[in-house]
Amino acid sequence: LQNNLARLQDYLAPYRDGMVTNLIDGKAVPAQSGATFQTTSPVDDSVIATVARSGAEDVDAAAKAAKAAFAEWRDVPLTERKKILHRIADGIVARAEEIAFCECWDTGQALRFMSKAALRGAENFRFFADRAPSARDGQSLPSPTLMNVTTRVPIGPVGVITPWNTPFMLSTWKIAPALAAGCTVVHKPAEFSPVTARILAEIAHDAGLPPGVWNVVNGFGEDAGRALTEHPDIKAIAFVGESKTGSMIMKQGADTLKRVHFELGGKNPVVVFDDADLDRALDAAIFMIYSLNGERCTSSSRLLVQSSVAAEFKEKLIARVNNIKVGHPLDPATEVGPLIHKVHLDKVTSYFDIAKQDGATIAAGGETTGDAGCYVKPTLFTDATPTMRIAQEEIFGPVLTMIEFDTEEQALEIANGVEYGLTGYVWTNDLTRALRFTDKLEAGMIWVNSENVRHLPTPFGGVKASGIGRDGGDWSFEFYMEQKHIGFAL
Ligand code: NAD
Repeated sequence: LQNNLARLQDYLAPYRDGMVTNLIDGKAVPAQSGATFQTTSPVDDSVIATVARSGAEDVDAAAKAAKAAFAEWRDVPLTERKKILHRIADGIVARAEEIAFCECWDTGQALRFMSKAALRGAENFRFFADRAPSARDGQSLPSPTLMNVTTRVPIGPVGVITPWNTPFMLSTWKIAPALAAGCTVVHKPAEFSPVTARILAEIAHDAGLPPGVWNVVNGFGEDAGRALTEHPDIKAIAFVGESKTGSMIMKQGADTLKRVHFELGGKNPVVVFDDADLDRALDAAIFMIYSLNGERCTSSSRLLVQSSVAAEFKEKLIARVNNIKVGHPLDPATEVGPLIHKVHLDKVTSYFDIAKQDGATIAAGGETTGDAGCYVKPTLFTDATPTMRIAQEEIFGPVLTMIEFDTEEQALEIANGVEYGLTGYVWTNDLTRALRFTDKLEAGMIWVNSENVRHLPTPFGGVKASGIGRDGGDWSFEFYMEQKHIGFAL
């Protein structure tokens, strides 16, 4: 840990005297109004950096730069785009430790996960770099009188708005396909975690991406975010964040008829039937809620266990949860670090009282820990019923709600009985049941006898209040591009 802290100081040096600026048309600039805000570390509440607090005028400058750059970027040969995106991936790999350390410090996420997240960011760029040459591919659909052909063209400058959970990886996941498709980008990172977005844009600049193709505008949702969603030159908004923010963005974008792609909240069930491999199910259930501080949209925050095995499962679970190592995010042994911010800590801990008031049991955790910073003990609620708030609302922390069920029908009703539908995890050795259950489970992504394992060509996204649209593979291009039909008379 001491070694890592010393290296962190080197990585933070540029921000100590300087500022996390915007990047508009290839230039590092403060907000035009001169306004700033501070980003702090959830480890000890210390100030990391002063950040540009942008308004509508900065967004306008960035959107104009993106519009001007689009005129050329859309026609850059696809193989050249491929090369530039690979160079960005190389740049990420070269600065992976810096990215991971800054992300840990800015967000509180543990290094054991963030070092992988930085490299996953590079993989996102490589994946879409390799697909760039086929971005414009279409088909021929001849009829007796017409030679019909289809092609795809990039939609134009797009806005990308990202949240504070794994902000680096998520930004790459949205921006890489946009660039591969031929779009230009204005990125508004989350105000709680602006540092790595700036590093990423710098890497892209160093990789030879032309000025204006990728612009970063820092600031708050209600001003910079809102202005981006309302700007007439921005043709689409790729948004990752809370469901209620998605709903606001849809309203804000209505006047300019924005195309939207939403990756929103979740209250994802992990359903354990009594015929499952219970040890594997236990490992996966723990991993899917207590890794990444539980600040993860795909986390399995509801554990549904069949009553015949619930007592044994619960006993093992409690022992494991009490054993999770909470600590400094840069300590390689740490499994759970501090939550992102005091505001979020207050939200998560408010559920401890809610759980008690509603009649659930706090079987592990249920309190903050540490003298400073936003630390909370990994928490398990048991004796919960499906309608309790702890079983319905996205808490977004290392907090698991366990609910027991008797029959498959009951499990399905409970699993589907929330407003969300992002992921589901099903544990059973009965293949027919797995087929039947997954067919009826209301979720965009489901894993059977597995934790969440991302495979980039597969579709990523949610149903119900968890999202609109899909990312991954060609689905990303469908969002960032327009299909065009041309019919030639024969
Ligand atoms: P948030 O909705 O509060 O903020 C996300 C971003 O939206 C930030 O950059 C914020 O500044 C901006 N924003 C806020 N109000 C805005 C407005 N009116 N107009 C435009 N932009 C606005 O979300 P958060 O708290 O940063 O992130 C956590 C949430 O993100 C959780 O609900 C989580 O489930 C969700 N999430 C979903 C996925 C997914 O793939 N489905 C992935 C990661 C996170």
